[in-house]
Amino acid sequence: IVDARGINKSFNTAHVLKNVDLKVNAGEVVCIVGPSGSGKSTFLRLINGLEDIDGGQIEVGETTLPGAPKELLSVRRNVGMVFQNFNLFPHLTVLENLTLSPRRTGRMNRSGAENKARELLKRVGISEQSSKYPSQLSGGQQQRVAIARALAMEPQILLFDEPTSALDPENVNEVLNVMKELASSGITMIVVTHEMGFAREVADRIVFMADGQLLVDASPSQFFEHVEDERLRSFLSKIL
Ligand code: ATP
Ligand code: MG
Repeated sequence: IVDARGINKSFNTAHVLKNVDLKVNAGEVVCIVGPSGSGKSTFLRLINGLEDIDGGQIEVGETTLPGAPKELLSVRRNVGMVFQNFNLFPHLTVLENLTLSPRRTGRMNRSGAENKARELLKRVGISEQSSKYPSQLSGGQQQRVAIARALAMEPQILLFDEPTSALDPENVNEVLNVMKELASSGITMIVVTHEMGFAREVADRIVFMADGQLLVDASPSQFFEHVEDERLRSFLSKIL
């Protein structure tokens, strides 16, 4: 469902992604780990068309990037994104955060969007909060709203960029549990994370990026137990 081939990306003189290849099949959960500055966020931003690709191609669903503006729009609609800092609309209630895009894009009318939104809020366990504003919620609740909002557009793929990094420790698990439920329901997910327990338990594959290169792509058991890559071993020894 995602097939990135030979991806290169530079910012001015910084060569941030170097010939990155990654294939993700429908229903798979792939975790991306690696040191700060290795290009993980940039790679996610290329997959949903938030940045331009300098070299190579990414197939996303039925669309190939780089593409025309029409294709870019279709990719953005088919790919949901969850950010570290939630990025909710502060002036809108929880319910309005969820219904905005489906209504604006003409995908659903008001009552359809609201029904869908309530169903999703129930799924992420925050039905009671629908008329609150984001600032009235805990970080974990805000992130669950952000996940529900991404799901409201019925994406083919969900991308997560360190979804629990900004949370207080006591809020991390409620978000990871929602992500586990989504994973087991068969949604295709690419998750940049430092949560190694989550990666080990939930991922079909774990990918290690360092210095703009994708160095390891392995099943969780191979990833943690049979790693020959020196940089991966050094990375794991620092965070485990
Ligand atoms: P972290 O774990 O800290 O989030 P990361 O692996 O997500 O790191 P990226 O954010 O993808 O890393 O950044 C990779 C490199 O690209 C960094 O050196 C960063 O400074 C640079 N970079 C990212 N975005 C831009 C931009 N818009 N303009 C210039 N440089 C950028
Ligand atoms: Mg990042």
